[in-house]
Amino acid sequence: MEATREVFWNIQLGVIIDVLAAVAVGIFIYAFYRRIRLWRIGRPDDRFSHLGRRARAFLTYTVAHLLLHGKFFGVTRGWHFRELFPGVIHFFIFAGCVVLFIGTVLVAASHYVYEFLEGGVYLGFSLVLDIFGLLLIIGVILAVYRRYIQKPDRLDNRMEDLMALLLLLIVAVSGFVVEGLRIAATELKTNPDWAVWSPGGYVLALGFSGLQQSTLLLWHQLTWWLHVLLALAVIIYVSLTWNRLWHIIVSPINVFFRNLGPRGALVPIDIEAAETFGVDRIQNFTWKHLLDLDACTRCGRCQDSCPAYLSGKPLSPKKVIQDLREHLLERAPLLRKRKAETENPGDSGQAMIGEVIGEDEIWNCTTCYACQEVCPVYVEPITKLIEMRRNLVMEQASIP
Ligand code: SF4
Ligand code: SF4
Repeated sequence: MEATREVFWNIQLGVIIDVLAAVAVGIFIYAFYRRIRLWRIGRPDDRFSHLGRRARAFLTYTVAHLLLHGKFFGVTRGWHFRELFPGVIHFFIFAGCVVLFIGTVLVAASHYVYEFLEGGVYLGFSLVLDIFGLLLIIGVILAVYRRYIQKPDRLDNRMEDLMALLLLLIVAVSGFVVEGLRIAATELKTNPDWAVWSPGGYVLALGFSGLQQSTLLLWHQLTWWLHVLLALAVIIYVSLTWNRLWHIIVSPINVFFRNLGPRGALVPIDIEAAETFGVDRIQNFTWKHLLDLDACTRCGRCQDSCPAYLSGKPLSPKKVIQDLREHLLERAPLLRKRKAETENPGDSGQAMIGEVIGEDEIWNCTTCYACQEVCPVYVEPITKLIEMRRNLVMEQASIP
């Protein structure tokens, strides 16, 4: 008999999950659509040109910085790893999430389309999924240690960070418990040589092996539903709250649309055509600037590299991005409404320059480019500061 497992083993009414999954995906797509509308509040910016070049640059990024995690490890010339610990944490969580997601899709494909998870393929597949599931759990535990015990200055802790880590941990651990109960009730008794290919579940199964078969079946059912419903609840929760886990989607989009021009080059001003100079209102940034605000993961690498911040000046590129983001979210309902009425919505709310971003923040930037150089997702704090500075000089004649 070839090694394999039944997908909905011991589960009745598994079709309910299909329906709930469709609902969760629908909510996710709607939330994403609303976010695109939010970014479109900004002015136009031609980032759809050179699509072939963009695709090649994105592919390079995917290999160098996602698969090999170059930017996340902070690899410099001479192979120094400036961000080894945060890089390892991110790699474990990222790789765990991606592999488990792909694994779930493959299980569904094998169940609904063409059965290929059998024999050696199934055993190898089980091993890979268990290894990356364990990496995910280790990554989350290390992240909790770093955030709440080490507490580096560059990380600010919000409830959404704790929720993201807890949700990932609960889903991953409950997945192993389900696997352990299934193995204890089946493979451990009939095919123990298969069971060892799922090392995480196997260890738990050994612990459950003293339970009666009826108890194993009952607990397997309960934890299976808990695990699957939790996973769907995570998708819905993240969609409705725009939790930081969205960066898994938004950051790669930001990387794709990044500036392909020379590093550090300023966007020239068209003196003849420009009606206003620089940016003094959030809606006068381009849509790419607004996308930047959502792509920021609050990792704080830019802040750690900013000479102004490090020398005690009142400027943190991370804070600038986050303050602009909060300002955008606050103004968004009104701006969206006005945008529907006019192409150039006015705004009588809080002044962006002076109240949201202080003039001292704007002027303390040395335009050294360090923040953009280290940002793993190509957020551009400088161009925003430059646009606000231009507005101060050319519209308000305000020079320190
Ligand atoms: S460009 Fe400005 S904000 Fe960025 S690191 Fe340099 S001084 Fe800091
Ligand atoms: S701008 Fe980039 S480096 Fe700075 S906190 Fe955001 S993601 Fe991190």
